[in-house]
Parts: sequence; C-alpha cells; structure tokens
Amino acid sequence: MWGMSSESSCRRCRVYCDWVVDPLGCLDCSRLYAYDAKDGGRYVGCVEGVHLAELELGVLESCVEEGRTFGSIRAARVPLPICAARVDSAYPQRLPEIGCVNPEFHEPPGGGTFTIGVRGSATPPDGA
Ligand code: SF4
Ligand code: SF4
Repeated sequence: MWGMSSESSCRRCRVYCDWVVDPLGCLDCSRLYAYDAKDGGRYVGCVEGVHLAELELGVLESCVEEGRTFGSIRAARVPLPICAARVDSAYPQRLPEIGCVNPEFHEPPGGGTFTIGVRGSATPPDGA
C-alpha cells in the first residue's frame, strides 16, 4: 500500500524502492543451506532469511559457468554486508522535486560510507 514502508522496502514516495539480492552472490556464502528434493534437484536458500526463495543450485551454477546473470530477488529483510545487494527503484522518474525523503534507506548494509550530495554548483557565490 502506498505510504507504507518496511525494513527492506520504502514507500514514502511514489518511486517505490526495495532492497534486492543477486542470488549468484550467495554461492560462496556460509549462510546458504542446501537440500536434495524428491525431484532429484538440489535446492538452496538463505539461512538468514534475507531472501525467501529456494532456487535450484544447478541453475545458479550454470549462470556462473556461462557468464549469465540470474536476476535479482526482492529481499525480505535488510541484507547483510556479505550479500550482493542493491536498492532497486521501480519508478525513478517519479522522484519528487524535494528529492528522496528517506536517504538512510540507501545506506549500505551494515553501515559504511554515506554521502549526502548537493545539487548544483559546488562553487560558492562571489564574495562568499
Ligand atoms: S546471507 Fe546474503 S549472500 Fe548469504 S545466502 Fe543469505 S542472501 Fe545470500
Ligand atoms: S526515493 Fe527515497 S523516499 Fe522515495 S521510495 Fe525511494 S527511498 Fe523511499
């Protein structure tokens, strides 16, 4: 619903931002679980619940071997610093004139450098 936000989604304006995870980045992660299903496939998921998908390991490995991307999965919680994660903005053209009113949402998982930018020239006016 518009106006609602969660830990991993922001709806404070109509841009609609969500944290997403690249599951190919999970392949070397110690927080990845795996199980063999009755269909003969081996499936993997995230112990930490960063994303809730269970994906066939062979498909992910094929993507890596063939140099293909898999795509992103919407995060169910704020990703961890080890995750291959980014913020996906569904409608960037809807950014209001005032700009993003929740810039903290874009901070890297686990903290890190965060810079507030200023639009326009950095040169001070004459006499300043
Ligand atoms: S913690 Fe992050 S990198 Fe590790 S399995 Fe979960 S989503 Fe993937
Ligand atoms: S642009 Fe900022 S305020 Fe708008 S949805 Fe994204 S994070 Fe939230």
